[in-house]
Amino acid sequence: MQIVTTKADQLKTKPDENNLGFGTIFTDHMFNMDYSVEKGWHNPRIEPYHSFTMDPSTMVLHYGQGVFEGLKAYRNTKGDIQLFRPQENFKRLNVSNHKLCIPEIDEAFALDALKQLLAVEKDWIPSAPGTSLYIRPTIIAMDPFLGVRASFTYRFFIILSPVGAYYAEGFNPVKIMVTKEHVRAVRGGVGDTKTMGNYAASLLAGDKAHRAGYTQVLWLDGVEQKYVEEVGAMNIFFVIDDELITPMLSGSILPGITRDSVIKLGRSWGIKVTERKISIEEVIKTSRSGNLKEIFGSGTAAVISPVGELKYEDTVISIGDGKVGKLAQKFFQAIQDIQYGVIEDPLCWVEPA
Ligand SMILES: *Cc1c(COP(=O)(O)O)cnc(C)c1O
Repeated sequence: MQIVTTKADQLKTKPDENNLGFGTIFTDHMFNMDYSVEKGWHNPRIEPYHSFTMDPSTMVLHYGQGVFEGLKAYRNTKGDIQLFRPQENFKRLNVSNHKLCIPEIDEAFALDALKQLLAVEKDWIPSAPGTSLYIRPTIIAMDPFLGVRASFTYRFFIILSPVGAYYAEGFNPVKIMVTKEHVRAVRGGVGDTKTMGNYAASLLAGDKAHRAGYTQVLWLDGVEQKYVEEVGAMNIFFVIDDELITPMLSGSILPGITRDSVIKLGRSWGIKVTERKISIEEVIKTSRSGNLKEIFGSGTAAVISPVGELKYEDTVISIGDGKVGKLAQKFFQAIQDIQYGVIEDPLCWVEPA
């Protein structure tokens, strides 16, 4: 399929690279493609960034049949544009598609479309330290219909947003709060997909955590409320003695690409990495005995997010006396250096855009 490009007549003024924040500024162009039963995915096009006009009955607005991805384009030390494991994002988008009854996309075609869009928008990729261009591929159900069934028509779009350094105020540990009142996902559900409703369902617990002075919620399993699952939009790691432990992918945890990168990089360094169930009781117990050395989250936005304090019911534990752990620091540096092309790419994760 040929991608037709229509350039914007007028380009926006580029923002100040040192004051980008997250997710509020969008570039001049976007990618769009449509699906119908008769034509399959068709009419791929790069167009000026624009609003959608939708019938109020459009299915995604009512039943949340929609999926998305999140990845970044980085400007490397030579000034070239690079992506970090982008195939994994389109592969995961198709896993989400499958679960949400959305027709699969051609992963290689989608990556090529993204690269063509990035070529049009290359001047939008910032170069200030820690900045990047956030990429949001999204698919939504488009039938104007109020019956509950899978839609027959879809829109696939990609929008781009230049984003600032996540740790503008320094790489500092965050405080997280375990919730027993709410659950994020259950096995057999859609917790392992990036679908819209998961995020809507997490807001109330997030709000309560914020009001209690915590940055994020740590979710437990939805059945026994016993095993640790993940944090907000990050996976979670524990360093107990010399072992790096992360909850195994149970079907209700989002399989993070950063999570997978930490596991593979850790093993390549000779660290013992274990994917298994880990209970909140074990976390508290190993904290008390002094064996719990570090806790950190992993995700595209922050790469690594060290945890300095954890609250579970009436228990508050502090980890590493407010300092960033050695492994969290090492993973953060290494992954970021690979993403920005500062160091060699030991596991072949970087792809030129
Ligand atoms: C996106 C996301 C993650 C992290 O995935 P990455 O691929 O590492 O960015 C973790 N948990 C949830 C719920 C997410 O939506």
